[in-house]
Amino acid sequence: MRREITIIGGGLAGLTAAIACAEGGAAVTLHEAHRVLGGRARSSAAPYIANDGTHVFYSDGEPWRWMAARGLVQPFRRPALGELARGRFRYGGRLTLTPPWSLVNALTKRRVVAPVDRDFGSWATERFGEEAMRTACGLVGVITYDADPGRLSAAFVWERVLRASSPHYPAPRYVVGGWQRVVERMADHARGLGVRIETGSRVDRLPEDTPVIVATSLDAARTLLGDESLRWESGRAALLDLGLASSPRDVFFVSDLDEGGFVEQYGMVDRTLAPAGHTLAQLEVPLRAGETKAGGITRLERLADLALPGWRERATWRREAVANGRSGALDLPGTSWRDRPAIGRGSGVWLAGDSVAAPGMLSEVSSHSALTAAAAALRASGLRVAA
Ligand SMILES: Cc1cc2nc3c(=O)[nH]c(=O)nc-3n(C[C@H](O)[C@H](O)[C@H](O)COP(=O)(O)OP(=O)(O)OC[C@H]3O[C@@H](n4cnc5c(N)ncnc54)[C@H](O)[C@@H]3O)c2cc1C
Repeated sequence: MRREITIIGGGLAGLTAAIACAEGGAAVTLHEAHRVLGGRARSSAAPYIANDGTHVFYSDGEPWRWMAARGLVQPFRRPALGELARGRFRYGGRLTLTPPWSLVNALTKRRVVAPVDRDFGSWATERFGEEAMRTACGLVGVITYDADPGRLSAAFVWERVLRASSPHYPAPRYVVGGWQRVVERMADHARGLGVRIETGSRVDRLPEDTPVIVATSLDAARTLLGDESLRWESGRAALLDLGLASSPRDVFFVSDLDEGGFVEQYGMVDRTLAPAGHTLAQLEVPLRAGETKAGGITRLERLADLALPGWRERATWRREAVANGRSGALDLPGTSWRDRPAIGRGSGVWLAGDSVAAPGMLSEVSSHSALTAAAAALRASGLRVAA
């Protein structure tokens, strides 16, 4: 008889765990509360295919290699030189071609090791000067979704600064058709391996007869497991998606070193995301303490005025949102990913997701933890991860 494993949650973590468990020979059932799979990796319906959360994978991470080996992210686009040449920085309220020299200088110090127990703000100011610290915080806004990365662990922020400025850049990969296509491919692949996928199936109590991987947000896991300790720091940001008539004057991206925001015109890299002659841009800015969604959207509109001239007349579609605690784990001074809620919970229960004890950034944490949880659930069932 095949050993059964239950997975709760059909986002990237749940689908990754389902594939890995099925590859190891288990009979897998995955329950997803929503009628559509994908969680935060869902996209809106055409004509503007805007990702709800995620927009890029980073090809220098192990999760990308795992998915690419299974054909789950192809075809994809990488930014071409012409597109990169249309990248800008916002610094001192203006668009510039290059970041300030103090930041460039700090970015050359790639061998510097940052301490876990100090805050990035004071450590980086001491090491590189105040301007380099502030602009590095702006640079990683796109990864932390936090208005004050200076308060976070120096080791945590510095790792992200180095990845965002990797000499192997550009590491970002845009899957053609958006993240929903990845989700659909993962679901097809899982079904092909025999996984039973139940959508519209909210689980209210943990099953006791099979090993179970809880691949939900940490908030949902806290309720399911009845464990108040399942909490971790995360970001809060305002988001504005714009469908626009294309203009040759548009930038490809703006890294907002002043306010930690970004503009990314991913409709320029992937033309399937918008109707012919149109493009799709996502703008983000971390919300400050006490700032409302309306305040964040006003700042985003100002950023759009700078980056996307005439956007108000060209806009044919728009969507506003706040991502509150949905953009992955942030480690405070004195903590690292190892201190986040453990994957193994005892009694045949494992956690997977982007706020648990696994390395990587953003959704990479979901993938890493899903593979760790799957290996443990397989071992507990007397099975092994497929070679
Ligand atoms: C604005 C924004 C931008 C981002 N950009 C990037 C990016 O560029 N690159 C990147 O790598 N990452 C990015 N991320 C992070 C990425 O989106 C997430 O890390 C990832 O999608 C999380 O996947 P998950 O499977 O762990 O969780 P989720 O996607 O939250 O999936 C959990 C699933 O569990 C289901 N569920 C919950 N409770 C139950 C229950 N009781 N029973 C059954 N099902 C249940 C939910 O419906 C959901 O589908 C971004 C996130 C945001 C918000």
